Amino acid sequence: MSYSIAIDGPSGAGKSTIAKKIAKRMGCIYVDTGAMYRATALFMIRQGIAPADSTAVCKACGQAEVTLRYENGEQVVLLNGENVNGLIRTEEVGMATSLIARYQEVRERTVEQQRRLAADCDVIMDGRDIGTCVLPQATAKIYLTASAAVRAKRRYEELLAKGEACDYDTIEADIIKRDEQDMNREISPLKQAEDAVLVDSSDMTIDQVVEAIMEICRRKGCL
Ligand code: C5P
Repeated sequence: MSYSIAIDGPSGAGKSTIAKKIAKRMGCIYVDTGAMYRATALFMIRQGIAPADSTAVCKACGQAEVTLRYENGEQVVLLNGENVNGLIRTEEVGMATSLIARYQEVRERTVEQQRRLAADCDVIMDGRDIGTCVLPQATAKIYLTASAAVRAKRRYEELLAKGEACDYDTIEADIIKRDEQDMNREISPLKQAEDAVLVDSSDMTIDQVVEAIMEICRRKGCL
């Protein structure tokens, strides 16, 4: 019997860092669902379509073929066949993604693909609606969060380390705005599933979070 692990939470909570490590340890596939929405947002930006224009985005989203491939255990996101991994992590794409991810047409296409992936193999999937909508029967569900200040600080330090110019206050404001958009949208808003275990990583190291989540997965019978 295959298992699925759902990790939801706000941006910057460390979901992808943690999920990647757990996937390696457990030998399952990591599905970064945010990257799929990000690739769709990149398509809209390239087409000059405003993310807030729901009619135009919904009309065009059928032309954005987003697929996933795995190379040496790493997820590669393809947009109409092009590897866009290196282009989707900017703040501009992140903010546009949060806007287009509100639309039903965009979500339906993406969710269907995510369910197909989970049906075929053991997965750890992270996002905003995995435990509540995509995989309501997931073997283990985790809601991973941290305070907005801590998430902003982590993002700030990550950008500094990459040598990118950034401003802490702008980053914190963006994080709060994105939380607001993701938690208050009509379709599949970000929220903790009733049967998800809450992990607040504000005062935890990455290794501590990995151990805590591995323990939850063990208890739920994923190992
Ligand atoms: O996780 P990441 O920051 O890459 O996600 C970018 C945006 O994609 C989120 O702010 C959210 O609006 C959207 N998203 C979503 N549902 C998911 C994953 C991401 O709506 N399952």
